[in-house]
Amino acid sequence: MDGVYHDEVEIEDFEYDEDNETYYYPCPCGDKFEITKEDLQNGEEVATCPSCSLIVKVIYDPEDFQREENLSAKPVLVKA
Ligand SMILES: [Zn+2]
Repeated sequence: MDGVYHDEVEIEDFEYDEDNETYYYPCPCGDKFEITKEDLQNGEEVATCPSCSLIVKVIYDPEDFQREENLSAKPVLVKA
C-alpha cells in the first residue's frame, strides 16, 4: 500500500470540531480531510476527503483514543 497516502499528518495538526466529534485537516482540493473520534477509537488511521480521492494517514497514539471516559477518569478494568 506504499504511496497511497497523499501525506501523513499528526493528529495534533488536525482541527477538532466538538459538535461533530470529527477532526479536520485542509485538503489541497479546497475541502478538508476528515476522520471522526470514533474512527480513531476503532483504530482507523485514514482520513478521507469527501470531495476528492486523496487520503492522508493520521499519526496518533491509539492509547489516547481507547475510550474517552478513560481520558478524564481513572482507567477501569472491566474484565469481570
Ligand atoms: Zn480533497
